Amino acid sequence: MSLLSNTGKKRILTGDRPTGRFHLGHYVGTLKNRVKLQDQYDTFLLVADYHALTTHPEKDDVARTREHIREAVLANYAAGVDPNKVTYYVQSDVPETAELTLLFMMLTTVPRLERVPTLKDVMRDQQIEQPSSGLLNYPVLQAADILIPRAHLVPVGKDQESHVEVTREVARRFNRVFGAEVFPEPDALIGEVPTLVGTDGQAKMSKSLGNCIYLDDDPDTVKQKVFTMYTDPNRIRADIPGKVEGNPVFIYHDAFNPDIDEVNDLKDRYRTGKVGDVEVKKKLTAAINNFLAPLRARRAELEAHPDDLIDILRMGLKRVRPVAQETLELAREAMGLTSVVYPSLHELYTGRPPA
Ligand code: ATP
Ligand code: MG
Repeated sequence: MSLLSNTGKKRILTGDRPTGRFHLGHYVGTLKNRVKLQDQYDTFLLVADYHALTTHPEKDDVARTREHIREAVLANYAAGVDPNKVTYYVQSDVPETAELTLLFMMLTTVPRLERVPTLKDVMRDQQIEQPSSGLLNYPVLQAADILIPRAHLVPVGKDQESHVEVTREVARRFNRVFGAEVFPEPDALIGEVPTLVGTDGQAKMSKSLGNCIYLDDDPDTVKQKVFTMYTDPNRIRADIPGKVEGNPVFIYHDAFNPDIDEVNDLKDRYRTGKVGDVEVKKKLTAAINNFLAPLRARRAELEAHPDDLIDILRMGLKRVRPVAQETLELAREAMGLTSVVYPSLHELYTGRPPA
């Protein structure tokens, strides 16, 4: 059996939770790598609505998640993730994911999951006193996401690295316990900027912290956000030498301003107290707005054709579902978890009634 797809390419699995709008942090953390690698890899792009349930399980939350699914497709499309190359799909449209999660849960201990650092972060940020077993199992669900298409590479932000490590352990353990090479051991691919700081200087740009520049912000909003950005707090006048390293304004210049000479000139003059914040921020506003202009245009194009958005997900589902069914067949075959009613697992997964 080949772990490569029928195109002969290695596979990527990547995705987002449908919890709202997308920001510059999402772009540098993962979207950029998705676009960059979409020709080289056979890419599966997941809208992770089961994952949204781990922290947002109420009925209203579920309804909101339905709306945010559209947002996830729009943001990826706008960023340049091409649906003719990439398989877009919604996680809960592939129920085999839940089944594989159940099988993987048997191979993962509770203490191992309690040690995953993001669990404590999420509980603190969302004020959750006791995690549901669904939240504890988040990394196991993610292992199932990644291993449903038997992916080799996972472009993610730095915060997700510990989850990919759990996936590697699960894959290794499964193959060892059942004596078959069913799953590859996937690598995480961290973006050029592993974690983008917020406009307020906090360590991470995040919706819940309210420190984001969104990919669909209009030019005036971008300007206003850049002009209120946190910079070097000790620099109360333009003629005072400033600190460039770790300064969010320059981190953003490095990430979004392609004019390297301009950036170096601004840094030199900043360090020597020869440039005002206004000039630095004006040029940053222009750079971010130039970067966002084609994203806004592509987004508008898809927004004008809402049926196309559904077609993108329909087309992706047609591709991924048979892959998912094949993975479950292979996994259960390896485990010896056959059916006494169905003559083969293939019949079970293709939905044919037993004879
Ligand atoms: P938010 O915290 O703003 O709600 P999120 O972390 O919930 O966003 P996810 O859907 O969990 O968003 O993450 C999608 C991807 O984007 C993940 O790979 C994550 O690591 C990455 N990501 C999110 N924020 C940043 C950031 N500030 N810098 C780099 N990567 C990020
Ligand atoms: Mg988050």
